[in-house]
Parts: sequence; C-alpha cells; structure tokens
Amino acid sequence: MPDTNMENRPGRSRLELNRQISLREENLPEKKTAEDALLASEKRYRRLFESAKDGILILDADTGKIADVNPFLLELLGYSYDALYGQHIWELGVFKDIAASKEAFRTLQSREYIRYEHLPLETCDGRTVEVEFVSNIYLVDSIRVIQCNIRDITARRQTERALEESGAKMRNILDNIGIGVTLISTKMEVLELNRQMHVWFPAVNPGQRPLCYRAFNSPQRGELCDNCPAVMTLRDGTVHEETMQIERAGGMRTCRIVSSPILSASGEVSAVIEMVEDITEKISLESQFRHAQKMDAVGQLAGGMAHDFNNMLAVIIGYAELALDKVNPPGPIQDDLEAILRAANRSTEITRKLLAFARKQTIAPRVIDLNKTLAEMLRTLQRLIGEEIELTWLPGTNLWPIRMDPAQLDQILVNLCVNARDAIGHRGRLTIETDRVTFDKTYCDAHPDFVPGDFVLLRVSDDGCGMDKKIRDRLFEPFFTTKGVGRGTGLGLSTVYGIVKQNQGLIRVFSKPGKGTTVRIFLQCHEGDAVMPRKNIYTESPKSHGKTILVVEDEAVILNLIRTMLERQGYTVLTAGTRDEAIRLAEAHITKINMLLTDVIMPEMNGRELAERLSLLKPNLKVLFMSGYTANVITHRGVLENGVHFIQKPFSMKNLALMVHEILGQE
Ligand code: ADP
Ligand code: MG
Repeated sequence: MPDTNMENRPGRSRLELNRQISLREENLPEKKTAEDALLASEKRYRRLFESAKDGILILDADTGKIADVNPFLLELLGYSYDALYGQHIWELGVFKDIAASKEAFRTLQSREYIRYEHLPLETCDGRTVEVEFVSNIYLVDSIRVIQCNIRDITARRQTERALEESGAKMRNILDNIGIGVTLISTKMEVLELNRQMHVWFPAVNPGQRPLCYRAFNSPQRGELCDNCPAVMTLRDGTVHEETMQIERAGGMRTCRIVSSPILSASGEVSAVIEMVEDITEKISLESQFRHAQKMDAVGQLAGGMAHDFNNMLAVIIGYAELALDKVNPPGPIQDDLEAILRAANRSTEITRKLLAFARKQTIAPRVIDLNKTLAEMLRTLQRLIGEEIELTWLPGTNLWPIRMDPAQLDQILVNLCVNARDAIGHRGRLTIETDRVTFDKTYCDAHPDFVPGDFVLLRVSDDGCGMDKKIRDRLFEPFFTTKGVGRGTGLGLSTVYGIVKQNQGLIRVFSKPGKGTTVRIFLQCHEGDAVMPRKNIYTESPKSHGKTILVVEDEAVILNLIRTMLERQGYTVLTAGTRDEAIRLAEAHITKINMLLTDVIMPEMNGRELAERLSLLKPNLKVLFMSGYTANVITHRGVLENGVHFIQKPFSMKNLALMVHEILGQE
C-alpha cells in the first residue's frame, strides 16, 4: 500500500524525500497536504503499473471481476481495456485452464498466494502464450483485491523444450545402442544408466548413487576393481580401455570397457562416461574358430601319417599271414608270427582312429533306426563297462531315422562308454538316451555352429570324476590323454569328433569336476527312403573261381603281397606297377580279365580314371578299389558313391578274399 504518512515516517532516505519534494513541486506545489502526497504516490505507482514489462491484473477478490489490467497484459493477450474491465475472470477464455470455473477462482480467493510455474493463456486471436503466474491478495482501502502478476515465458519455454527434445533424442540414441553406457561420478558413484545397463543390472538404481564396484559386481565388491579404466581416467583425464570379467545374473561375462572423461569448464574431470560392450560371444566364436582350425591342421597331419603307415601295416599283416600259412607242422615260430599279427592289427586300430579323426575314413552309410541299433549294442556295452556300473537305457519315442555307417556308431559308443567307465572308477551309473530335437532359426542365430532342422540326439552321461576347463579345452585333440602310459591313447574323443563331423553332426560336452560328464551328439535326421536291413553278404566261404584279376598298385611290396594272397585263393593274377603297364596288359588280355583291383591314389593316373579307361575295352568289367585313405575320386566327402566297391587298407587275406568273391559272384 502507498504510504499515506510519509512525512512522519522516521528514517526516510534522502532520495525518497527528494522525490517527494519533486512530486510536490511538479504536481501541486502550492498545496502541501496529505491528500496531495497520496495522489502523488498513486500516480507514481500508476506509472510503474503502466510501464511494467510484466502483465498485471487486479481482481476484486469478492466478486472476481477484473478491476484493472495493465497495458502489457492487454498487448500480450490482444484485448482492449474495455473488453476486460468488469468481466468475471472465469468467463474469459484466456484463463480457461485455471479460473474458467468459479471453483478455480475460489482457490484463488482462499489462498493468500498462488504460483504457477507455467500456465498456458489464450490470446484474443486464439494463440497460446505461456506465462508464469503469481497472485496474492491484499487490502486496498479496506477492499480485498487479488493482484496477478503474469510474466510471458513463451520464448524461454521454447528454448527449454528444444533442449528437452534434443536431450530426449540423445537419450533415445543411448538407449538404442547395444552398448551399455553409464555415468560415474568422481566418487565412483553410478549417476546414470542407459537402457542396456538397466537390462544387465536391473537392481541398480542410479537415484541412490550406488558405488560402481558394488553395483556392477555380484557378489558385491568392497573395493575398487583391479585395472578399473574409470579410475585411470579420473586420474589423468584421458580415455582408457580394459577387458574385464563381470559376474552377472546368468554367469560370468567378458566385457570391453572404454572410459572417457567429462571435463568441466576449467578442464577438470567432473565425471566419467563408461561404455560397456559384452564381448563374451565374440570371444567364444573366435576361440571356436581357432579350435576348428587347429583340429583341421592336426587332422591333415594325422591323416597323412595314417595313410603311409597303413601301407606298411598292410605289408606286415599280409606277410605274417602268408608265413603263418606256411608253418607246417605248427611250432614255436607260429606263436611269434601270431604275436606280430596281433600287434599289427592293434596298430591298424590306431591308424583307423586317426583316419576317423581326420575324417578320412571311407564309410558306407545307410539309413538306420538309432534306437534299434543301440538296443542291439547294449549287451556288448555292458560287458565293456563291467557289472559295477549300472547302464540305463532311455530311448526317446518316435525317433527320426538317421543315415550313418553303423560301424561308426559302434566306434562312437565304445569310445564314450570306455571313457565313462574310466571316469567312474568303480561303482556308478552310465545313461544312454536318445531324443528328437529341432533347432529353429532364432536358436541358430544365437548358436552359430548349429543349423536349423530336425536332429536326433544321442546323450551319454556318467556320474564319474568330470573334467575341469583345462581338460575340456583339449578334449578332442588326438593323443591328448590324462590317463597313464599304456592306459589311454588320447584317440577316443578325437575319433568321435571326426565321425560326428564327417556326418555333419554336432557334439557338445558338458562336464564339471565332481559333477560327471554329459556328451550330446546331434545327428541330422534322414529324410527319404525307409530303413533298409543290411544284407549279410560275406558269410559264404571263399572258393576258387579260376578267374583273372588285374592288380594295379604302385608300391611293389604290396603288389607282390596281393598277388600272393589272390593266387592262394586260386585266382589268376596279372600285376602292373604303372598306368602304361596296366593298359598294355589289359589290351593284351581283356577278354579273360574278370576284375580290376586298383589302388585309388597313384602317381600318374588315379584308380578311377584307370577303371574308366579299361571299361572302354570291357564295359562290364568289375572294379574293386583299395586305399588306406578316403579318396575323393571315389567318394563324396568320404562317403562311397553308389555301386562302387572299396576295401580299406590294410586288409587281411580273408577280408580281401570275401570281397573279391562277393563282387565276382555278381557276374
Ligand atoms: P583317452 O581315453 O585315451 O585318454 P580320449 O580322447 O577318449 O582319450 O579322452 C581324452 C581325455 O578326456 C581323457 O584322458 C580324460 O581326461 C577326459 N575324458 C574323456 N571322457 C571323460 C569322461 N566321461 N569323464 C571324465 N573325463 C573324460
Ligand atoms: Mg578314451
């Protein structure tokens, strides 16, 4: 209220006095009355009211009628003074949001003071302006009035909104990158998390400013993490990067963390931004890839060795057999020869395993019912593991057929069961299960070495000693064994691995020390022809047929050996060590040659080409290929082509005789 008694007020300032005087002089210099002073004061306030750069609205606090409006507000709202004067506040469109009803006015009436931070008002021409609104009630000459101060904040709000929008945009970007982003204070408190971090650490609430080493570790750490990049950034204000192991719900993860400083105007580090990238899968893929590469290299080496070794074994076995035949009457020399033969046969097993691992085993797959084949093997397997170990057989229902060489299935089960037996030691349990599984695209996207489709699962689990990570990492390497000299060859699982790979299957081993081991093998289901029973073809004893066989082999010792073997069986044998010799012999004797027995891999011409060449001379010529090695010329990735006859080196006299007999019997 204007001071009506200024003259008498103690402590008036000189300035006030001067202005009082000047007002008096200016307006009514001759009458120095209290009334004059009041008038002058009112004028002064009127001038403030009218020149104010904020809107001012005076309402009658009892009736709600507008008693006064200053020019600024009139201009802001686009109304004339007369249009507003005497109107009820709630009847005006401008205030529809707060005082459009009498109730709103009542609130205004009953409260001494009201403040709205931002309030939209509507102008006469329908635009919206945003204002800050403050109202308070006071008495003027015993009349209660409400004074509303209205500040135009439209421009400020626009700026604020633009900032909010760009903030939201940044937030949106941060939330939608697959990287975790967090803001860490200089006291190592978590200030902000983006959505990815929330997903990884749902329990962390940045509102509570938890310490990062507590929040991001479970169990919580009591101290800073070793090599924390944020600490280094706080120390020197530069970017740091570190790969760290972080334990999250769901297990240990490997994360790459990059920390960057946020600098204040004075150049000090005021906070640290950490970007967290989960590289667990990437690392595991890389190591799987390296592992596969290593296995391939070792496989090539092993396959090559096995090939050369097989040729030598063929000679040892062959001559030992021939010599045994000549021992008559039986004497001590027979025992010696049999010992040689046993050792050579055991060596053959080793080279077979190496070939299996190198996926160089020549196989003759057929469609089989896994449950049926396994059921037939159970007795053999039980004998293998001994009575102390309980064998449980849980066949899955409605299994799909698979296509596989049954001999390879034997190899898989024998190796897995022997390993389980060794891991169990004495008493324990071995379980063999089968099941059907289907992998869809989503699953395969997450597990890159899986392919979508239907699979038959073979699961072999034991409750034996289990394995730690060191052993698990090297499991499939040939010659890797933890068993003592003479007990393990380290070829069991490498054989299984090779077989599974050769059949486009997958193998997974789950094992923990003291928790037993589970091996899962996924075999592609076979679509198409039904299960064919295997013909037992080699039961007849061989007879001499007086037929002629052309044998082609570049290794002279083997050539001689085979000639001797076949002649013993009563066949007429022509031998050739080179392509030209073979062709010359064939041209000279083609009418009486019944069969070509040829090595597949020879220096000048491969066995297949030779066979094709000779079949021009004699279209129905029988051919038997031999090799110590899978040769792509007669197989497709190790799988024999239809109608092609093949014998794996080294072979015994008996097996060769059976095979030749069978093929010639088809004539
Ligand atoms: P070997 O049995 O001749 O040692 P393998 O290739 O079959 O060779 O196995 C390699 C190694 O893997 C074994 O020496 C053993 O340490 C480990 N292992 C294999 N199977 C099991 C199992 N079921 N339980 C525990 N350890 C196993
Ligand atoms: Mg083994």
